[in-house]
Amino acid sequence: MITPGNNTENSHREWTYPAIGGNPGNTPATTPGSFANPANIGGPLTYSSPDTPGMPAPSTKTAWDFLPQGWETQLITDGKVGEVVEGNTRTVTFEQNDGMLRSMTFPADFKPITQLESARLGIITEQMTRVAEREGHLTPIQVRDEIGAGRMVIPANVKHLQYKLDPMAIGRASKTKINANMGASPVSSGTEEEVEKLKWAERWGADTVMDLSTGGDLDACRQAIIENSTTPIGTVPIYSMIIGKKIEDLDETTILETIEHQANQGVDYFTVHAGLLQAHLPFAKNRLIGLVSRGGSLLAKWMITHKKENPTNTCWEKICDILRSYDVTFSIGDGCRPGGLADATDDLQLLELAEIGRLTERAWRKGVQVMVEGPGHVPFDQIEYNMKLQRTLCHGAPFYVLGPLVTDIFPGYDHITSCIGATSAAYHGASMLCYVTPKEHLGLPKKDDVKQGCIAYKIAAHAADVALGIPGSRDRDDELTKARAALNWEKHFELSFDPDVARAYHDEDLDVDTDFCAMCGHDWCSVRISKEINEFFSGKDESYAWEKATKSGALTEEQVEILKQRGHLSPEEIHKLASKTKQGVGADQAKAACHSDYVEDDEQAKVIQQAKLVQVNVSR
Ligand code: SF4
Repeated sequence: MITPGNNTENSHREWTYPAIGGNPGNTPATTPGSFANPANIGGPLTYSSPDTPGMPAPSTKTAWDFLPQGWETQLITDGKVGEVVEGNTRTVTFEQNDGMLRSMTFPADFKPITQLESARLGIITEQMTRVAEREGHLTPIQVRDEIGAGRMVIPANVKHLQYKLDPMAIGRASKTKINANMGASPVSSGTEEEVEKLKWAERWGADTVMDLSTGGDLDACRQAIIENSTTPIGTVPIYSMIIGKKIEDLDETTILETIEHQANQGVDYFTVHAGLLQAHLPFAKNRLIGLVSRGGSLLAKWMITHKKENPTNTCWEKICDILRSYDVTFSIGDGCRPGGLADATDDLQLLELAEIGRLTERAWRKGVQVMVEGPGHVPFDQIEYNMKLQRTLCHGAPFYVLGPLVTDIFPGYDHITSCIGATSAAYHGASMLCYVTPKEHLGLPKKDDVKQGCIAYKIAAHAADVALGIPGSRDRDDELTKARAALNWEKHFELSFDPDVARAYHDEDLDVDTDFCAMCGHDWCSVRISKEINEFFSGKDESYAWEKATKSGALTEEQVEILKQRGHLSPEEIHKLASKTKQGVGADQAKAACHSDYVEDDEQAKVIQQAKLVQVNVSR
């Protein structure tokens, strides 16, 4: 048995595994499990990848080091859980998940509003309990402790909680989340269509949705999305600030009023590009594509026009006060994210990231929950460094990344170029992945683009969770593998993320369920053959003795020819070779529920194979 941290056991092995992390599956299996670091919930590594040499170490600080002025906390070994009021101060002492006692001293009349403030006082909120229920592998205490450390956020505006919001968490201790962007633009789409896209994105697994509307009735669209969503909603408030006016006219009053208005509507998290400073701007001129963030480029224009510092940075504490009063979470924007591989990990991007780290500290001092946005377009080899540098500079605040795209030359397929980067990002440190659709760089995503983007990102997030060894994350994979091994097509489709497409692809060539599919056919179906072997191993069927297998004939001439053709047939030829079998087996009266409805035994399956499926013309 291979267990976490044990990589040398078992004398039959001539090889050594790397240090073993947790096992993401509960089903007994032959795999050694995850090669990620063992789980460290409550510490800076949580679920993490082993460091490639040269990676920045995690920060030694957490949100506990950035409390409001006058607050004090300490870990104690001796003491009692409880509460003491002395004059104007109150001290609460509570037990952490690690068994340590934490005491927190704060003003006696203080009332917590945000999840972070509750966590700091040892309170487990209703939302934390719900998150623990949804995560499965976490307890409410662990959720509270991660929020207290700033490594996890629950974006749940108190106003949105009055509608249909189902609280969820973003952080390294929880499963990787995905975000879907939508929003009306000046040239396309309207409120009704956006609400329909919201439902569609939720249907395909979006954990949060960002309304990035820049056209139409922005207010009505946002309100409709908030009222109809079960997922947290994020916005970039600067878009509304400049509708009908020029960016140069933006002032502090407009910034604060717009943020207050959207917070009051129920927005759960705001992207604010406060990390881009005047001093950073000269670094943009040598980039291939400059600033590609809408918010970043607009604020840069404002700074150049007014020769003043970024106004969202100078009034940060006032913005914090508004966010705190509704428990809106910051998603500190990356206005300098690279827009092409050649601009990745440059001084401009990282100077902004360092400032974002300082903004994180300032927001935590105000009791506001924080996550941080990240790139963009990053070569595959630089992704780990980007994730781990953020972990250092932002003290473990959840990282929410857009992709990143790992190549620039596949417009139309950027859901794929980016989900490759997103998988790596999630493995190395990102907590939420902002989807990219096939329409990226080309146009406003339509319904099917939203589905394609969501699915690409569910794949990325899930692959990373399994790799990180998050308990239970492989269970559905194992169930599907078992269904596949049993050639149980119904179960196979039921467990598929997109059962309709899986069923349609199967039925395109062979629309009856039997003990093989059209990919290899009956005689070549290794799963069917393995099933036979397993039956032999289990002692159920003596006729599958090894001698029989060794006596079986060599490949026939026809089989040799078929092998030669494999991989050389054109798609048209393959389509010609595939024939429908529905009528042939009498399955056109009703849909086959499982192969035994129409194909009772192996012999009959062979008849279908020979008569109806693929008769390869090897002479061509
Ligand atoms: S025919 Fe091939 S692809 Fe289809 S179930 Fe059997 S082994 Fe799998």
